[in-house]
Amino acid sequence: MTKTVKDYIRSIVDFPHEGIIFRDVTTLFADARGFRMAVDQLLTPYTGMNIDKVVGLEARGFILGGAVAHQLSTGFVPIRKKGKLPGAVISEAYTLEYGEAVVEIHDDALKPGERVLIVDDLLATGGTAAAGITLCERLGAKVVGCAFVIDLPALGGRELLESLGHEVHALTS
Ligand code: AMP
Repeated sequence: MTKTVKDYIRSIVDFPHEGIIFRDVTTLFADARGFRMAVDQLLTPYTGMNIDKVVGLEARGFILGGAVAHQLSTGFVPIRKKGKLPGAVISEAYTLEYGEAVVEIHDDALKPGERVLIVDDLLATGGTAAAGITLCERLGAKVVGCAFVIDLPALGGRELLESLGHEVHALTS
């Protein structure tokens, strides 16, 4: 039978903490057919949508987002964890299950009115993606899509992003 994207993803139990089932996409990335299938399926809804920039969320969103940007012939912009970007940044804090995290974008990475596609490997609570959307919007860009390989709907991320007026595109759950 033909393999789907889901078939290339491995689940690691109790990583990085007890009780977490970590969805490991390195096995998807390592397979030429699987990786191409995932990238093609991620970008399909956005061809002809005049995307200016693909914004990837650290870290696996860089791998997927870079490939998507290349295929769509757009630029690529990273959103990184606090303290990693070398230039002037704007920051956004968001709540994690335990504590807080901060993500950053270069303050000149997007121009007002630019059309942005956000890419990451997995949507869980949606906190990371929502903070990423806010950063893009603070620079005046318009987020026209949010694409993920995996959506874990029970964790509420899709609901959160949709409540903020954003459509979610995911390949598998
Ligand atoms: P969230 O902000 O809760 O939507 O979490 C999404 C971010 O955390 C993404 O960048 C994912 O790579 C990572 N993540 C969260 N849960 C998992 C999981 N079960 N397996 C792999 N990565 C995860």
